[in-house]
Amino acid sequence: PAHERPDVVRIRGLTRSFGGPNILDGLDLDIADGAFVALLGRSGSGKSTLLRTLAGLDPAPAGTVTVPSERTVVFQEPRLLPWKSVWRNVALGLGGKDAHGRAVAALQEVGLSHRIDAWPLTLSGGEAQRTALARALVREPRLLLLDEPFASLDALTRLKMQGLVGSLWQAHRPAVLLVTHDVDEALLLADRVLVLADGRIATDIPITLD
Ligand code: ATP
Ligand code: MG
Repeated sequence: PAHERPDVVRIRGLTRSFGGPNILDGLDLDIADGAFVALLGRSGSGKSTLLRTLAGLDPAPAGTVTVPSERTVVFQEPRLLPWKSVWRNVALGLGGKDAHGRAVAALQEVGLSHRIDAWPLTLSGGEAQRTALARALVREPRLLLLDEPFASLDALTRLKMQGLVGSLWQAHRPAVLLVTHDVDEALLLADRVLVLADGRIATDIPITLD
């Protein structure tokens, strides 16, 4: 059970504002190692702000956020370098010897073996999403941050991608924080569902499947 695993994320009293009212307002959150957490909440409630902070893109006040350095983030709009091939985008910044082999293996996992030498501009939206996912997964993160990664996909591609993320979670067991507006998706994939409201985690529900 989750409460027996060490926490991979620890947030205490995180407050953020952009000059107006607090978007995050004394937010507390722990995420256990290997947990799959879905984060719901109204548009503008601060979900992406929280993810950016966890990704290290928005520095947080000292002492409020503890998060592992082995983390990767997939944004709703995949960010690929247009002048690098698909496999080079996946291999970008990879340490170690066999960056090409590892990138190709990750692309195979997301079903893109046939697109490894393609240019990003020739990819469909779903292919670009899967490339971004492969780039995140090849790093074997302890924490995987996913910000509405399936939001713009058609139903069939979305179903495939959800299945992919679910099985990759089963296989590699990173902690996952998935932002979504889709309650069905949250219940399908996650073992814990959160709702962000008024700058805090207003609802925190464990999901058990028997
Ligand atoms: P959505 O579901 O629409 O993606 P969200 O929950 O991800 O919404 P955020 O993107 O975190 O919401 O934004 C929360 C609030 O903070 C919004 O009112 C937004 O306009 C504001 N905000 C976010 N980033 C900035 C910024 N860099 N400058 C000013 N305001 C910002
Ligand atoms: Mg958002």
